Amino acid sequence: MENKAKIFQAKSEKVAFDRDHRRILTYNIGQYDKAVTKGKHFFYDLNNAREQASKIKDYCLQEFEQLLVRFERNARGNGCEVEWASGADDVLKIIGKIIASEDVRTVVKMKSMVSEELEINCFLEKNSVEAFETDLGEFIVQLAGEKPYHILTPAMHKSKESVAELFNQKFGLEPGSKPEVITGFVRSFLREKFMSAQMGITGANFLIAETGSVGLTENEGNGMLTFSWPKTLIVIAGIEKVIPELVDLDLFWPLLAVHGTGQHVTAYNSILSGPRKETEGDGPDRMVIILFDGGRTRLFQDLEMHPALKCIRCGACLNACPIYKNIGGYTYQTTYTGPIGSVISMYMDGTADMGFLNFASSLCGKCTDVCPVKIPLHKLLLINRHKIVESSDSLGVERFFFRNYKKYMLKRRRLERINPKWKNKAMTTIGAKVWGPRRDPLVFAKESFHKTWKKKEF
Ligand code: SF4
Repeated sequence: MENKAKIFQAKSEKVAFDRDHRRILTYNIGQYDKAVTKGKHFFYDLNNAREQASKIKDYCLQEFEQLLVRFERNARGNGCEVEWASGADDVLKIIGKIIASEDVRTVVKMKSMVSEELEINCFLEKNSVEAFETDLGEFIVQLAGEKPYHILTPAMHKSKESVAELFNQKFGLEPGSKPEVITGFVRSFLREKFMSAQMGITGANFLIAETGSVGLTENEGNGMLTFSWPKTLIVIAGIEKVIPELVDLDLFWPLLAVHGTGQHVTAYNSILSGPRKETEGDGPDRMVIILFDGGRTRLFQDLEMHPALKCIRCGACLNACPIYKNIGGYTYQTTYTGPIGSVISMYMDGTADMGFLNFASSLCGKCTDVCPVKIPLHKLLLINRHKIVESSDSLGVERFFFRNYKKYMLKRRRLERINPKWKNKAMTTIGAKVWGPRRDPLVFAKESFHKTWKKKEF
């Protein structure tokens, strides 16, 4: 834990003062802000829509098990195979068996954060299977050997110049190629992969219990090719994605689109209800849905943390967060970053030691303000902080410090009794590390303002 916390601090220090990083992020988030501000006007009453979405998600959590069982029953009725996976190993075992039985050598993937949790590309590579990310942003980060920087905008940290340089290095495209040229190249490169892939892998934006269908939303059409061309399709979905009815998409799709990218609705919205039927031309012959826990049950078991399971992964809280904007996505060292990542990571498999992220927040509440399903993120951060402090026995010094700090700060007379020389001494020794090397030194006046005021010497 200590190491990851130290890495976090060291990275934060570096990234926050990286001017290039700041310039790119400010520009990209600025574009996002403009689009979202405009997009929010599509709603007649946005607040009411958020309220309704929040209530539906509350209902989902009340009826969590029943809805999941209903989804499973209806998905099986549609001809899907449904598997339950508690941890990453279970998912990978299921995928490994399918790869072997279907003789899979090439996989095309639609953008999916769950697959990042599972590090599927690494697993496929070890099993001699070529995997291609087909969302342009994901394709770029895969090419660069990186992970997604942001849950919705994986290449947000890259400028168009750096992307052109990458394509020059990897594919020999003209230096400084324009985005249109790069996009055209990727389109034909991936078309070939879509045609030859034996298997497609997608995540799920929503699992519709009523119909046993998977709701998917995307902007590039790569998802449609991923689930309609390869003969086998695997859908890996976090169990929190379940919603009660098809009609709920009426609310969730526009909310997700507006908060994710500022669009009225995303360009391609698909509802997958099983493998290809005899009368259909396209679609997989086999569709396997893996319902993945990966720590979500731990969140579910904690009543206080229920709201965190309402997240629809729109990314709005990341873009609004002053900390994220300063330290960027990679500093977190987790799949889910920003405020929602800080809240959930300590409950998820593989990142249980990331509780310290809850302290990486100014608690300004902007994340809560922008969340389309009204998750009180800043309150959840505080609840987690409380839990961490309560359960930790290594914080004795900190507790001692804050008890005394409170004692002195609440009584002016007590504070004034300490000689300023000692205050300055404390700041240049014990306090120096906390204050940091980049701020002007904090120097206490010889006399307090209160005493000066009493003498009326000004
Ligand atoms: S917590 Fe809310 S704002 Fe953040 S990603 Fe989830 S739904 Fe979006």
